[in-house]
Order: sequence, then structure tokens, then C-alpha cells
Amino acid sequence: MTYTGITLALSKGRIFEETLPLLAAAGITPTENPESSRKLIIGTNRADVRLIIVRASDVPTYVQYGAADLGIAGKDVLNEHGGNGLYQPLDLQIACCRMMVAVREGYDYAGTVKQGARIRVATKYVNAAREHFAGKGVHIDLIKLYGSMELAPLVGLSDVIVDLVSTGGTLKANGLVAVEHISDISSRLIVNQAALKLKRSLIQPVIDGFSSAVGTRG
Ligand code: ATP
Ligand code: MG
Repeated sequence: MTYTGITLALSKGRIFEETLPLLAAAGITPTENPESSRKLIIGTNRADVRLIIVRASDVPTYVQYGAADLGIAGKDVLNEHGGNGLYQPLDLQIACCRMMVAVREGYDYAGTVKQGARIRVATKYVNAAREHFAGKGVHIDLIKLYGSMELAPLVGLSDVIVDLVSTGGTLKANGLVAVEHISDISSRLIVNQAALKLKRSLIQPVIDGFSSAVGTRG
């Protein structure tokens, strides 16, 4: 069963929602809402464009292997994946947030770093965390988590967390404070390099549509 159109990989939630206006600018309207539908392959108004709904961190993998021609993934996810085989033509400036170091209120982060003590870091973003602390010359023990990072310092699993912060509401609700900014995060359009060559007539207009929508947005 070969599909001759193009396949765009998206995750549910904020990325899907913030991608809808970009799709509209490229003349693409999904026929179903993945939030209410259980379908993982979603059609569009165009017979030659379909969407697949995957976990945010799996988007680069589908595009890398050509199971999807295009995808939308956060810079956080791309940094952990490595970006091998992916063309990244556009910063879509959606799902914007910051990657931060956060600690329990009252924890002396600056003092601990200054003393040269080892720090236990819990995070889903192990590559970003490793790079960040290596750059500062801070020795760390990394603890890989898959979610709910805010809990780790509260129950003594770690001293600090590396996590994404937008409003800071979740940190605050859990008695945590952000102490260091690591990087600004937004989502990128990613394209399979072989697909771009083979299906340029279908893919390029999508890139151009997204590009003009990003450019004209306030
Ligand atoms: P999952 O929820 O499936 O475990 P996830 O948390 O990575 O995975 P989402 O919550 O849908 O998935 O986040 C998708 C992307 O949105 C992230 O990769 C990141 O780039 C961005 N993002 C994550 N948290 C925030 C936030 N608080 N504010 C804005 N953008 C965010
Ligand atoms: Mg999430």
C-alpha cells in the first residue's frame, strides 16, 4: 500500500493547534480533529496530503526514516534526537517556551555550583542538560525521566531539574523556582531530505505556504 501523496507528522495538543493556521495558509484543512478522533492517520481536503499523529518525541524518527515526508517538532526534541538526515528549513515560531534549570524554593543553587559540588539533575532532556552543565564546568549525575519532572526535587530524587517553562505556573504550584535559562525553544518544520528531492513539487509549496504565514504573523 504505497501512498503517492505527502505525509506530515504532527503531535496532538499545542503543536497540532498552533499548526492549523499554518496548514490553512498552505491550503490544507484536516478532515478530523485528532483530539476527538482516535485515528492516527488523518485525511485533509487534499487527496495528496495526509497527517499522521505521533508522540512529540517520535516526530523526527518518522521523518528521518521517510515514513513521513515532513514533520513539526520542538527544538528540544530535535536536540535530543540529533537531527540526522533532517532538513530544517523553517523556524515556525510556535509552541514557544524556554528550557530552564529549576530548583526547590530555598535551595542554594549558586552556592552549590560555586562550591564545586556534584549536582543531581533530573530531566527528559539529557543531551541539553549534559551540554549545559559541561559548558559551565559543573559535574552532574543525570537522572533520565519521561515526564512530571517537577516532582523530582520535591521527593529527593534530584537537586535540580531541566525542564521547559512557559508561564512558570507549574513550577510555582510545586514550590519550584527557575534559576537559569538554557535556551529559547520553538518548533521547526523538518523535511526528509530524499523526499524533498523526489516530491519537491508537492513539498515545496507547503514549505512556501508555511514560510509566508510565519513571515506575515505579528
Ligand atoms: P508528551 O506530552 O507526549 O509526553 P511532550 O510533553 O514532549 O510529550 P507536548 O506537551 O505536546 O509533548 O509538547 C510538544 C512540544 O511543545 C515540546 O516538544 C516543546 O517544544 C513544546 N512545549 C512543551 N512544553 C511547553 C510549554 N509549557 N509551553 C510551550 N511549549 C511547550
Ligand atoms: Mg507534555
